[in-house]
Amino acid sequence: MPLKTPEQYLESIKKPVNLYMFGEKVKEFWNHPIIRPSINTVMKIYELAQLDEYKNILTTKSHLTGNIINRFTHIHQSIDDLIKKVQMQRLLGQHTACCFQRCVGFDAANALYSVTYEMDKKNGSNYHERFKKYWIEVQNQDLMVDGAMTDTKGDRSKRPNQQPDPDAYLHIVDENDQGIIVRGAKVHQTGFLNSHRVIVMPTLALRPGEEEYAVSFGIDTNAKGITLVYGRQACDTRKLEEGKLDIGNYKYGGQEIFVIFEDVFVPNENIFMKGEIEFSGELVNRFGGFHRQSYGGCKVGVGDVLIGAAALISEYNGTDRASHIRDKLVEMVHLNETLYSCGIACSSLGFQREAGNYEMDMLLANVCKQNVTRFPYEIGRLAEDIAGGIICTLPSEADFKSTEVGPLLEKYLTTCEGLCAEDRYRVLRFIENLTMGVSAVSYKTESMHGAGSPQAQRIMISRQAELEEKKSLVKKILDVE
Ligand code: SF4
Ligand code: FE
Repeated sequence: MPLKTPEQYLESIKKPVNLYMFGEKVKEFWNHPIIRPSINTVMKIYELAQLDEYKNILTTKSHLTGNIINRFTHIHQSIDDLIKKVQMQRLLGQHTACCFQRCVGFDAANALYSVTYEMDKKNGSNYHERFKKYWIEVQNQDLMVDGAMTDTKGDRSKRPNQQPDPDAYLHIVDENDQGIIVRGAKVHQTGFLNSHRVIVMPTLALRPGEEEYAVSFGIDTNAKGITLVYGRQACDTRKLEEGKLDIGNYKYGGQEIFVIFEDVFVPNENIFMKGEIEFSGELVNRFGGFHRQSYGGCKVGVGDVLIGAAALISEYNGTDRASHIRDKLVEMVHLNETLYSCGIACSSLGFQREAGNYEMDMLLANVCKQNVTRFPYEIGRLAEDIAGGIICTLPSEADFKSTEVGPLLEKYLTTCEGLCAEDRYRVLRFIENLTMGVSAVSYKTESMHGAGSPQAQRIMISRQAELEEKKSLVKKILDVE
């Protein structure tokens, strides 16, 4: 059965990469205290896939090989698969309280599967078979794959081919019989360093004259010519300090990488789009749709943990019986379940593409993600409200544990009888972490900009708004010609 254990996963990513952080080259990144929590997260999700308890959600049968595979490498074959994807993401968010990083390549693969089929049908190319071969390797080795879409974009008022620096959008700079050479950068790359491979895609719908930018391919994340720069996040250096309580979620975390491609060679067999501008927009939209569906699962799982933390701290503060606290918790649950409803709804109304795979409902996936750009902020606001101002005035763990002031802090941080001040300290730091520390990147900023910033969803919603149809409903009721 091609399922990696967490230990096998860890061994498999121990390879040399050209990685920089704080201006220095990082060796053996898997031992770095700032990076390690993001690896723990991925190990955790490989671990959960091994358990009988979760195998119905986290594993499935490959339609390509008949093997039992990790769901993260599956091409959806039914509406049930689409629903299980969202359930899986909620479950994993609940276990890690952060971005578990493995969905991007999964969503890219599901988008490419149908787009390559349609390209071949129109142009007689052979991308679909090529992609299936590539993806069977991913399934059989249970590989983690990133999906790289966002270019640096240079001057936003100019098209890719009008940029003063042509590398502002990743593009083909040369080619030969064996393959192509690409140059550019992809930013906000969730889990790139922890992934074995990456699927690169264009960032927008391209026009005639922009063929060199219409490129999609798969490549190893440590291929020659790739340079990685680790993205820093609020309070990240707390992970370098002695003690772990000030970190908040000290076991798990996300990871964002700035990825630079300097004349990287891609062999022909790994190229899935080369110049087909007319399909670039569809690839962007389908990937965006799948990833917007994802957020109706992963952010809900993290929301579950944050709601739990808010309920727990109200108990520790002795405010859990206050009616306004209970009402705020109800509001948080209402918002969180609304997000989940959207994730499940866009999956339930999914449909089959000509290639045979299933895709979510595009309008509802965009509505889902538009809500995700708002509700986690409100859930976070309510969590901060319930926790109290102490989440950002609390002394450090070093003071809390010091022999001089520690006992005094413990005395004054103790609340209800029978409750331990350190537990309260842990939960307060955890809420701080999720609402304004490192994990706020996973929970808030990613909710805003991941899978496309709010305006990207509004464009998709407006395209599918069918206002003429809605106007005719009124005319019919009012007998207006
Ligand atoms: Fe997966 Fe959510 Fe992280 Fe995207 S933000 S990779 S959907 S966990
Ligand atoms: Fe994301």
